Amino acid sequence: MSSLSEFQELVNNIVIYDTHEHVAGFDWGFSAADSADAKPYPRKSLPHVLMNDMLLYITGSTGYRGPSLSPTDWKVEDAAGYWRALQPVLEELRSTAVYATIREGLKLLYGFEGDEITDDNWEALNQKVMATHEARGAAVWMLETIERAKVRNIIQMAHLPYLIEYWPSVGPALRKRMQAVVKPSLVLEPFFFSGFEPDRSKARERTMELLGMHPKNHAEHLAFMHEAVRRHREAGGAALKFLCAYQRTLFFDEVPDGEARRLYDKGWKNLSPSELQRLQDNLAWHLVRYAGEFSFPIMLHTGYSLPVSMGNPENLYNLVGRFPKVHFYMCHAGWPHDGALALMARTFANVHFGFCWMIGLSPALARRLMDEMFDLVPANKMLVGMDCGSPENFYGTTVMTRDAVASVLASKVDSGLISRRAATTLAHRFLHDNGLAMFGK
Ligand SMILES: [Zn+2]
Repeated sequence: MSSLSEFQELVNNIVIYDTHEHVAGFDWGFSAADSADAKPYPRKSLPHVLMNDMLLYITGSTGYRGPSLSPTDWKVEDAAGYWRALQPVLEELRSTAVYATIREGLKLLYGFEGDEITDDNWEALNQKVMATHEARGAAVWMLETIERAKVRNIIQMAHLPYLIEYWPSVGPALRKRMQAVVKPSLVLEPFFFSGFEPDRSKARERTMELLGMHPKNHAEHLAFMHEAVRRHREAGGAALKFLCAYQRTLFFDEVPDGEARRLYDKGWKNLSPSELQRLQDNLAWHLVRYAGEFSFPIMLHTGYSLPVSMGNPENLYNLVGRFPKVHFYMCHAGWPHDGALALMARTFANVHFGFCWMIGLSPALARRLMDEMFDLVPANKMLVGMDCGSPENFYGTTVMTRDAVASVLASKVDSGLISRRAATTLAHRFLHDNGLAMFGK
């Protein structure tokens, strides 16, 4: 007899430690206009929820050329127009997992007729979405959804102002609730001039203002980075995060400080791309050093990048070997370099295999990788993360993650490959214990 229902019950009762999130207001926290204290904001319609995060990112690939579908360009009063505008895109994306996770969340949190959101049932669902968001406010709705999903903590990607400016701006009772659940991971790109996105410059400038530090040379810049990492620890931070594989290679050469000083003095905007990369490499090494000093694990966006060679986790051999006491958490399974990452995770004690975002990319891919990696990698080396921007997407992803873990483990037990004891240990390690061990309470 299949042990699937047994493992579904087991997995559904495990409290999850979610090691990769954006759901708590992205990098800056919920804006004042949509804080829980400022009801009736945020006023979110169903199309706003649909286009809140991952789905929006792939609309361009459909060839869609109509009006902007970004939620910031639409008012809730225009929900009907917004719904109509996104139909051509939705028609092409209904079969993708990124939509399936949001639809699952909407179905479970609000309910709707049938198995699809259509012209016939969207208005009733929209009413429920708008009423819920208006009544709760963004922060409270997020916290309620996290609790309902049986998730104890989330590792939230954040800029330093999230901890030292946004949190203090929230009322004490709500702040306490948030801080008990939300554990920030400091986005490092603002510190080393990834430079290509205006948003990162804004984060660097705001961090400088808040710390009262305006570095003029390399030594002062190191002091600024060090102070930011120290404040992150002091204010309740849990990790550091590199996401630059979207823009540059994860290979960081060891660049001497003397060379970095000269490059810094030229001004980062005056550097050639290869010079800028040398300066970035030097600053990144110092950041990894500070991670060791303040006992932070380092999370890295690996895998998904264009070209995919940039995000190959093998680019990190030198840092992994040079800083054996720093834990390197490679996100997104390194996919499509999952095999390379598996070899690193089963060789180096400080390399960890992250499954974050995998369900949102493809449950089939996530199941295949769980099936293989559960065989290949020790139970204490793998972590789970939902990687979502909205409570609705988050909730659907947690449910589908539990389903995948239960079915993969049940099939291994039923085939006789592993024992119930081994499967049970793995389920606890993967969904909860490893996150707690890496990031703490
Ligand atoms: Zn993410």
